[in-house]
Amino acid sequence: MESGNEHILLPELTDQGIRLDVKREDLLHPVISGNKFRKFKYNLESARKKGSKTLLTFGGAYSNHILATACAGKENGFQTIGVIRGEEIAEKWKENPTLSKANEYGMNFRFLSREEYRKKEDPLWLQDFLEGMCDLYVLPEGGSNALGIKGCEEIIVPSDKKYSHICCAVGTGGTMAGIVNSSNSNQQVIGYPVLQNSDLVKDIHNFSSQSNWTLETKYHFGGYAKTSSKLIQFMNSFKEDTGILLDPVYTAKLFFGIFDMIKNRKFPRESKILAIHTGGLQGITAMNMKLRKKNLSLIKL
Ligand SMILES: *Cc1c(COP(=O)(O)O)cnc(C)c1O
Repeated sequence: MESGNEHILLPELTDQGIRLDVKREDLLHPVISGNKFRKFKYNLESARKKGSKTLLTFGGAYSNHILATACAGKENGFQTIGVIRGEEIAEKWKENPTLSKANEYGMNFRFLSREEYRKKEDPLWLQDFLEGMCDLYVLPEGGSNALGIKGCEEIIVPSDKKYSHICCAVGTGGTMAGIVNSSNSNQQVIGYPVLQNSDLVKDIHNFSSQSNWTLETKYHFGGYAKTSSKLIQFMNSFKEDTGILLDPVYTAKLFFGIFDMIKNRKFPRESKILAIHTGGLQGITAMNMKLRKKNLSLIKL
């Protein structure tokens, strides 16, 4: 695959003369997939230089970033601590496929109430919380610090300058900021947030050096990890048509948004769109467990 981009051929695209390619960041690593792999590169280097022994980070119970940290720690000789949102999970994390896999990679957990968890950005709280733990390298939620964003700048390579639009899913916005930084100013970068409310605009501004970006805020499907039968159906038919598996939390919403916008003629004819498949496929197991409980149709693997 030249430059790692895969061409999608579907009638709804060719009818409008639109080219859609997918950057398969999901294939970078079997566990640390997509943007999380990018975010670790310079952070691991920095942790090594500092002589840190343990990576500590934050996330929800199904977080791609938590599992990625556990695996990256194991592969690179660091201990790992995952600070998990929700104290009720302490009793049932073994039933959670993400956390039990992270634990297999050697990650230890600290569970916090949602209220406590919200304080994690407060430096005084953090100092208190970390007291007594030594040789730590602390990564923020989602891995979106300056070094994480620097790693995400490498998602875009020189041959990607031929695209008119670059589209990506947005959680914390770190990945998008990296993509914006390495895009050409005449390219339009479009982000599809999966969270309903957030300070993304401010965050992306803080971390990016250009203003050639917009957010399409209609495709969150009710918020993080929320889904619908319509979205699952879309994922399954996209898989059938293209062979590409999407994840229910991020990339399904991204591609649903892109196709909805194409249908509504939001992209000019002859647009050349690059969509970033940021990975996250580990989340499917847990989502299918939830869907099965509710007797809803499942994501086909
Ligand atoms: C974490 C993640 C994102 C969001 O990345 P941010 O940098 O937090 O915006 C997008 N897609 C997948 C698959 C992810 O795991």
